[in-house]
Amino acid sequence: MGGNDAKTAKIAVWWDMFDCPVPEGIDARKVRPSLEGAFKELGYTGPVSITAYGDQKQTPEHLLRALSSTGVAVVHTRSGCTCALMYKDMVAWREDNPPPAKMMIISNQVLDVFNWDLARLQQRTSYDIYLAYSVQPRAALFVRTRHEWLWDKIILTNTSNASESSSAAAKSKFYCKSCSLDRQSLKSFRKHLSTKKHAKQEILRPDDSQLQSVTSKWGKNYAATPEFATAKIHVWWDMYDCPIPDGYDARRIRPSLEGAFKELGYSGPVSITAYGDHKKTPQHHLQALSSTGIDVAHATLEVVNGRISDDIDEWEYNNPTAPATMMIISDEADYAFSDFLPHLLQENKYNLFLAYSFRPREMSVLVTSAEWLWDSLLAVSETRRHDLLRKCSGSSIERVGESTGMFYCKVCYSDFKLLDEFMKHLSSKKHALNCKRITDHIESSENLQLYWEEKHHFPESKRFKKAP
Ligand SMILES: [Zn+2]
Ligand SMILES: [Zn+2]
Repeated sequence: MGGNDAKTAKIAVWWDMFDCPVPEGIDARKVRPSLEGAFKELGYTGPVSITAYGDQKQTPEHLLRALSSTGVAVVHTRSGCTCALMYKDMVAWREDNPPPAKMMIISNQVLDVFNWDLARLQQRTSYDIYLAYSVQPRAALFVRTRHEWLWDKIILTNTSNASESSSAAAKSKFYCKSCSLDRQSLKSFRKHLSTKKHAKQEILRPDDSQLQSVTSKWGKNYAATPEFATAKIHVWWDMYDCPIPDGYDARRIRPSLEGAFKELGYSGPVSITAYGDHKKTPQHHLQALSSTGIDVAHATLEVVNGRISDDIDEWEYNNPTAPATMMIISDEADYAFSDFLPHLLQENKYNLFLAYSFRPREMSVLVTSAEWLWDSLLAVSETRRHDLLRKCSGSSIERVGESTGMFYCKVCYSDFKLLDEFMKHLSSKKHALNCKRITDHIESSENLQLYWEEKHHFPESKRFKKAP
């Protein structure tokens, strides 16, 4: 994306006038120059199109006139239906306007209404999204935004004159969503809103209040697109959730995964890190994993998700531009990594694969290109397995020759080339001490939390006279 293109790309604004009304005493003709000014401050000078949604029967005529005189499109929606109709328009707009076109949403409902579906859309095609609200979302959004403003701040701090607006002469447009018709003049629009026909249509029209998800029907397990077909694949495998089944030959893990990838057309180089409590993993498994080039990482249950997060972070840093596929084998991908993974997938050109020991009850906010049940991923039929081993054995044997998997202790941040050294480390005093430090630390922070909670609920208790 050229820097210049991005600077002058068009900007579309969807504005919920109920959530973010024109403040009292403010000339509505200032809305457009205020928004344009806010974008100019960020260095963006592209043409801005603004659509104002709301129950326009309730909007004073002078306000509608002021908006339309500055080229703001005015859309009438029944109250309660604004979000769903705005979203439909956004989705349709995205079809016709690829990035670097930019999107701005002025609404307080992004967290409650748009968040999930929009975050998924963004993982497929990522637009720069800007947000303004009169009430800040009470939790972090899955949708990654480039900039957020308080609505009043945009409108009240911009000093530019209404007449400075670049598109003051733009043709105005009025639209009634209930009747699916447009009007060129304010007079005929207002007349329409007061007709019987319109009133009838508002009652008859099917309910538009629920946001229509456009991503929930997206299929799973797509064939690889050309740019990902030979791209590298990295696998973070949580063995606590998805262990090696009893009696399973651990040497089959890599060819089973590679076979499943190949079935979908992915043949890029695969690297795998297996996280678990390797003091308890049988040594022949560790040997087998390492002999097929799988890295083994010891991480206690307390730290495993944190260490996987850190490693994903480092991997992202090392793979900034290339298309690449990430695979997470875990039952908690959605929950344990939700604070950064949806954003990471919106920022980068990565594919995501998931595997889990049971199918999640709800669809994830993470958009995947393929998902598997762990057991079925490993249960390759005998004939296919024979095929796979034959196909993969060449590469596997080469791999054994040139690089076997490393052994990491993610508690002490130490690396080992040999299993013996690794096992010796895991039973060392130094390792035990580091493990204890972690559990002590967690215990003390839990105690502290307990202390504050108890103090909050039982403020008179004697035990709280002393500090913890
Ligand atoms: Zn109508
Ligand atoms: Zn250690």
